Amino acid sequence: MSENNPFEMAQKQLYDCAEVLKFDSDVVGMLENPMRQLHVSVPVKMDDGTTKTFPGFRVQYNDVLGPCKGGIRFHPEETIDTVKALAAWMTWKCALLNLPLGGGKGGIICNPKELSEGELERLSRSYINCVWKFIGPEIDVPAPDVYTTPQVMAWMMDEFSKLSGKNQFGVLTGKPIPIGGSAGRGDATAMGGMYTIREAAEELGIDLSKATVAVQGFGNAGSFAATLAEELFGAKVVAVSDSKGGVYNPDGLNLKEVIKHKAETRSVINAPNAETITNNEVLELDVDILIAAALENAITKENAGNIKAKVLAELANGPTTREADEILFEKGVHTIPDFLCNAGGVTVSYFEMVQNMYMYYWTAEEVYERLDKKMTKAYHEVLYASKNHSINMRKAAYVVAVSRVVEAMKLRGWV
Ligand code: GLU
Repeated sequence: MSENNPFEMAQKQLYDCAEVLKFDSDVVGMLENPMRQLHVSVPVKMDDGTTKTFPGFRVQYNDVLGPCKGGIRFHPEETIDTVKALAAWMTWKCALLNLPLGGGKGGIICNPKELSEGELERLSRSYINCVWKFIGPEIDVPAPDVYTTPQVMAWMMDEFSKLSGKNQFGVLTGKPIPIGGSAGRGDATAMGGMYTIREAAEELGIDLSKATVAVQGFGNAGSFAATLAEELFGAKVVAVSDSKGGVYNPDGLNLKEVIKHKAETRSVINAPNAETITNNEVLELDVDILIAAALENAITKENAGNIKAKVLAELANGPTTREADEILFEKGVHTIPDFLCNAGGVTVSYFEMVQNMYMYYWTAEEVYERLDKKMTKAYHEVLYASKNHSINMRKAAYVVAVSRVVEAMKLRGWV
């Protein structure tokens, strides 16, 4: 295993935390591996009449605080270790936000860009056929993640409802609003991240209306984040990137143009009025706020020394390796760690579950107000733990979250 194996990284992060909190080995033994992992083969009738079988996973990491919760990713480079790491991070994320939920994650190894709409629908339904006995509103509640959309959630919820013989809106979150989705879920990850950036800027004395921002990753979270940084704070977004490369304009990008260009060409590169730069150059720009919103392992020991941002907001899961973390901490880069920074998505997912149970739906204003309160509280709990134990923000987030999971395990008599 290498430095960049996400599950090995997640385990080491847990060991770092166990050292700070002086957990005994029984506790670590229960938390260092997932409670349950399901491997499935997902058959799909393709448009050409052949049947292709895709490997899929669902990992239920820990459910001591409530039903497992976490997204499903469709990605050609998905691995069981990525899914295990992401399920662990979901466990800490839900605990950190004080949600009555455990952690889970799912994935299918596939390239959704090569699938037709019909194939995507059949893949989504077939996955549910494989896992439906193991999920449910009180067991494990999936949601969108990389390359899965509200439409994918709609098909999956429908399939689960058909198999159960009744409407089961609460089996998944991130659904379209007319069929049990929550207002504010679409941009919830980015919005939650904005609240933490606002708090960090205040702590560091950064005036966000004069701040410069670079966004690495221009998917759902990244593109909303760029737009919100401009709209909410008046910050200047100077660079954005996707898997093909980045675009830069020191005077500020025209985000509407970049979004339009991406919709037309599937990439931000060559967007008008901007210089094309590499993904790595976007990370190393001299900006106030760097938002990492792509995949794991973007910031490693190779490039961490070149990061110039004052604040690193990790909107992706696992963008920074452990070695890079130490380098950033020594350089004084204020990191808002992933399972704090990107917790807005699952927090609004939790609100969606609550609304599904009540069959009573909130306005977007109500959702954002509640989200702001939760994110702000969690940010300050992490900041306090970081100062109190003189540890970096990631270790502090672990300390707050894992303590809650361990307390619940002790109360339930698990350890
Ligand atoms: N996939 C998102 C995450 O990593 C959201 C999970 C959810 O809403 O359950 O946090």
